[in-house]
Amino acid sequence: MSTFLNSESILSLFNKVKTATNTEAEKIIDNALKLKGLSPEETAILLQCKDPEILNKTFKAAKIIKEEIYGKRLVIFAPLYITNYCANNCLYCGFRTENNGLKRKRLSLKEIEAEVRIIEDEGQKRILLVAGEDSETSNIDFLEGAISTIYATKQGRGEIRRLNVNVAPMTVKNFKRLKKTGIGTYQLFQETYHPGEYKQTHFGGPKSNYQDRLYAMHRAQEAGIDDVGIGVLFGLADYRFEVLALLYHALELEKQFGVGPHTISIPRIEPAFNAPLANQPPAPVSDADFKKLVAILRLAVPYTGMILSTRESAKIRNEVIGLGISQISAGSRTTPGGYKYSEQEHPESEQFSLHDSRSLLEVIKDISHLGYSPSFCTACYRLGRTGKDFMDLARPGLIHKHCLPNSLLTFKEYLIDYGDAEARELGKKIIQEQLNEIDNPQRKAATVKRLKELETGTRDLYF
Ligand code: SAM
Ligand code: SF4
Repeated sequence: MSTFLNSESILSLFNKVKTATNTEAEKIIDNALKLKGLSPEETAILLQCKDPEILNKTFKAAKIIKEEIYGKRLVIFAPLYITNYCANNCLYCGFRTENNGLKRKRLSLKEIEAEVRIIEDEGQKRILLVAGEDSETSNIDFLEGAISTIYATKQGRGEIRRLNVNVAPMTVKNFKRLKKTGIGTYQLFQETYHPGEYKQTHFGGPKSNYQDRLYAMHRAQEAGIDDVGIGVLFGLADYRFEVLALLYHALELEKQFGVGPHTISIPRIEPAFNAPLANQPPAPVSDADFKKLVAILRLAVPYTGMILSTRESAKIRNEVIGLGISQISAGSRTTPGGYKYSEQEHPESEQFSLHDSRSLLEVIKDISHLGYSPSFCTACYRLGRTGKDFMDLARPGLIHKHCLPNSLLTFKEYLIDYGDAEARELGKKIIQEQLNEIDNPQRKAATVKRLKELETGTRDLYF
């Protein structure tokens, strides 16, 4: 079957660029600063380059691009696991069907509501809903009920304003039902784009069909879901192959639907209970290579958001944020019901271990110390700025005029409702600094006015 992804051509591209010089690599990096992205060949040249000076230059360019497009803001979200029943047997995942030692749990709507109340009480406004794949327990009817419960749950001043989902792929008909629930982004990771490795890692269950998963985003787009998030589980196959494959996937979506992926997720395999590959990944990615791949992706697809989860340690997270990450999870639990019960009490029902167990408030303080402004903004999707409309604003740099003020408004709202004295002090400084970055005087004045309105109790202000 013909497909947009051909492993042979990826491998021969790497062969072709073997003799590329440092001068060529430098030229590619300089060109990337024009924010036009990279071709597969240019990406391959940077991926195979081992020269430390070129790598340094790549990091510097990634930092510049990140600041230019995303400024100092970092969007924050919390994952919500609603079921760990799964018909698949992915060898890296604690939820796999043959893990008989795992305590299975599907949350009832009441339990979902209880989890959402805890998440809202921490100050989160965005949730990423996550579920195992099981047609009996985790079908579209269940998802519809779960999503409407989450949106309807309001705790104090808290509410969930954007819900993204990471659930098994479905038919166009069911994707249309999913779209109607009001989700933000539909996320699905190919795990590995390498067909041979995919086959060895996924056998039995619907996920064993590589091609069906590869075209899931086409079906989602066909159903009208225009914000889709792709990803790779790093550690299964050579990271250079996977990065190039991600780029081909992004280019294919852009070609077919006029818009590339809204986000790219870059999880690395973490240890998981009774999951053989999680404890011994076939192609582990070192911290150094992880930083390199984040930076190269930033150059290759400058307008695509990049998501980092609490799978990574606080140290690594702090290091790669500046290289191009635009969204991070915080205060996460990977067990259904995990917000109610601490992970330590229920290790045998979690999906994988987390390396960053800081609370949301701690993360907010740490990133503020690094000079970043946390954002709980959900404006684009609520104002219909999705898919191609979003990219048409993002490409000429126009999205920035909304993002920066919105990040400050949502940060201030968080500080008033959920911050402590230390966070408020830090936040005040960041907000002041960032206000000065708003170059349009009218927009700046309007932001100052709205920041004041928040102090008098008005909420949910955005541009
Ligand atoms: N079940 C659906 C699926 O597999 O697409 C959606 C939810 S699944 C829980 C979400 C993601 O978790 C998977 O796509 C995979 O990349 C990631 N994951 C699984 N095991 C992991 C591990 N040991 N370490 C890090 N991430 C893992
Ligand atoms: Fe199931 Fe997803 Fe885990 Fe695979 S990664 S076992 S499909 S929950």
